[in-house]
Amino acid sequence: MIVVTGATGALGRHVVDGLLERAPADQIAAVVRNPDKAADIAARGVEVRVADYGDPASLQGAFGPGDRVLLISGNEVGARIPQHRAVIDAAKDAGAALLAYTGVLGGPDADFSLADDHKGTERAVLDSGLPYVFLRNGWYNENYTEQLSRTLEQGAILASAGEGRVASASRADYAAAAVTVLTGDGHENRVYELSGDEAWSFAELAAEISRQTGKEVRYTSVTPEEHARILDDAGLPAPAVQTVVGIDGAIARGLLARRNGDLAELIGRPTTPIATSIAAALPS
Ligand code: NDP
Repeated sequence: MIVVTGATGALGRHVVDGLLERAPADQIAAVVRNPDKAADIAARGVEVRVADYGDPASLQGAFGPGDRVLLISGNEVGARIPQHRAVIDAAKDAGAALLAYTGVLGGPDADFSLADDHKGTERAVLDSGLPYVFLRNGWYNENYTEQLSRTLEQGAILASAGEGRVASASRADYAAAAVTVLTGDGHENRVYELSGDEAWSFAELAAEISRQTGKEVRYTSVTPEEHARILDDAGLPAPAVQTVVGIDGAIARGLLARRNGDLAELIGRPTTPIATSIAAALPS
């Protein structure tokens, strides 16, 4: 079986869609914590297995011998290493054949706080001795297009990323790479650094949004200190402030601009440009 955790999330849903195009539904299982959210997935013939990363007992039975498992990272930043380790242990105990993990671009070189959980998880995967694939995902285009209506209202994109560039791709692109790895051969113990074919700056992002909408959007570049103060004043919790400012710092240092073509090669087509994702996010 091919087993996808986090299957009711945005990335997981793309992965399930992609798998259903390549494999019979009875060869696919979805691990979810809330089966109500997975009713549509079950209706397509995919086996739904209920488990929570935070509850090791619930993970018993989530995997079986020979399963090829995709562990999609959870979203409780700071709590994820023990959660992911529980998934890895359960996959190992069950005799899984492969564990693919969605980490972060740069792996051990990613020096911002959000990357810590990914680095710890990769270490846990290596320690497990399971055959693995590291899918080190760069940024999603959607990180910058899902709030488009607010961006248009404000007429500004505020960030502390300086002139840094982002080699983003769409969630569907990263999902397609996972599908390739889960359904193909020869990926065992490989590390893929996944990012978009083109890297854009925040000034270019603002200009592209302006071009497509006819509304002026400017990039407001602030220092990390100003950024932290603005987010703090807006009521963002301190850890989230640290995460956001840390990410922009990483972008300023070029860490999210890396491009090596792994993603386009795995999916067999160019990655989705940010302009395409902007267009898709605009009301039709
Ligand atoms: P989502 O938040 O949409 O999906 C996360 C999935 O993980 C959901 O299905 C969620 O379940 C599941 N999950 C979280 N915690 C647990 C848990 N304790 N037990 C079981 N399942 C759990 O994120 P995306 O799909 O967009 O992205 C996937 C992951 O990639 C994120 O979780 C995050 O780690 C990372 N990410 C990467 C970004 C990038 O730009 N590369 C940007 C944002 C996140 P449920 O559906 O029940 O909520």
